[in-house]
Amino acid sequence: MKPIRSLALAAALLTCTSLGSQRLWAQDTGDADGARLVAAMLGASPLEDDLRELTTYIGGRATGTAANLASVDWALARFREAGVSAGKEAFSMPELWLERSASTRIFGPEGSGIAFEARAAAMPFSSGAPAPGVTAPLADGGKGTEEDFDRLGDTAGGAFVLIETEPLLDIEGLFKEYNEAFDIERRAVAANAAGIVYMGSRAEGLLYRHNSSLRGAEARPMLVLDRGAAHRALSLLRAGTPLSLTAVLDLELGPAYESYNVIGEIEGSGEPEEIVVVGAHLDSWDLGDGALDNGANVTLLIDLARQMKRLGIRPRRTVRFALWNGEEQGLLGSYGYVRSHAAELDRHVAAMSFDIGCGAINGFFTGGRAEVASALDEILDPVRGLGPFQIIDAPVVGTDNYDFMMEGVANLVGNHEPATYGLNYHAQSDRFEECDLRTLRTNAAIVAAATYGFATTDVSWARQSRQEVEALIESTDLERQMRVFSVWDAWLDGSRGRRAE
Ligand SMILES: [Zn+2]
Repeated sequence: MKPIRSLALAAALLTCTSLGSQRLWAQDTGDADGARLVAAMLGASPLEDDLRELTTYIGGRATGTAANLASVDWALARFREAGVSAGKEAFSMPELWLERSASTRIFGPEGSGIAFEARAAAMPFSSGAPAPGVTAPLADGGKGTEEDFDRLGDTAGGAFVLIETEPLLDIEGLFKEYNEAFDIERRAVAANAAGIVYMGSRAEGLLYRHNSSLRGAEARPMLVLDRGAAHRALSLLRAGTPLSLTAVLDLELGPAYESYNVIGEIEGSGEPEEIVVVGAHLDSWDLGDGALDNGANVTLLIDLARQMKRLGIRPRRTVRFALWNGEEQGLLGSYGYVRSHAAELDRHVAAMSFDIGCGAINGFFTGGRAEVASALDEILDPVRGLGPFQIIDAPVVGTDNYDFMMEGVANLVGNHEPATYGLNYHAQSDRFEECDLRTLRTNAAIVAAATYGFATTDVSWARQSRQEVEALIESTDLERQMRVFSVWDAWLDGSRGRRAE
């Protein structure tokens, strides 16, 4: 998940449904199965071993790495071991981008004696700077505001602009960081900066990899710098000492290649041609082990498929367990899926994504579709005791619901208590120990209820037309979110999203 949801949006669009408590399942033949499934998710299972294996044996698994391919085989093996029919589905990644190493050196004028190394990570899709690297003056970019760039004037041109950040404390800070970076990067491009260097926002010099919207002609070296070293550089600059920075970014770059989603399936017992997708992304970035983002939700879905198979539960509709790849690099696995399954999209009843860590699930985003929000409210009834749940009927960009939304398919994103998500987001510290296993089991029960519910209940909605998706864009802040995500142009030119009839 790349959380660019604006705070304003969250505040403006909170639409909590509370439609009483009719128990759908009580009138439904699936009632007993739904209850059995929810109970099973809370019991013993290999869930913990799975998460440990995926995050500690395989570890970080950026799309394009050998570890990522190993995770594909691993996930297939888990499904098949459980007797769940599963396969891998190829899709195209437009380019290979991986960091082999990154280092920087900051130094003062000759004779000043000032020179120090600073730990750094390349931001996603940064340009490379092979040894001996790129050297440029380091400019104090303040907070990267319009005024800061005005103050720098011509001196930003050809310089590395150092941006001061607030310490990241929570998930709201992360939203803010994402939103601001979009504008900072555009200002730096307009000023023709040689590169952008962000002061790391995490404590203890923790490095992370996120937050870059510049591609193609706008690409340049983009770095996150150890927070302490960045502070030191800013102090020197503000005391009037000119500094330069040398960045050596050794990247592994390459042309388009194939990656794979892993899709497990439980065929529906009544209307097998109707499909409910429940997904989480298998890939991660590579600095940490990818437990919060998103191994926890991957192993949760594997466990759900396993329990449905073990209990012999086959809801009315087909359930597809989608373990996406390429998410961190542009939501590309789910994009590949909607393209290769285009002929079936009219029969996709709902697509759910879980990608906001392993804190307790506290609600859902329902994409600006009141009828879906209303159905969900009833569907969650059997797990009401694990709530309360807040249904936010707003569209969100940033994870694998995106292409379903743009194709007009009803889509949901699970929301979670922040827990340890913000601090460890895309960082070296995203590891197994950050997930509470008991919470993961209660989350599994909630996801089970939602999946079973959408696969069972009568639905009142159909796939939206392009016109209806356009209306959704116009009535919400979707356009801004899409621009921040660099997917707006692809929507406009028709290469991504539902086409006009
Ligand atoms: Zn994620």
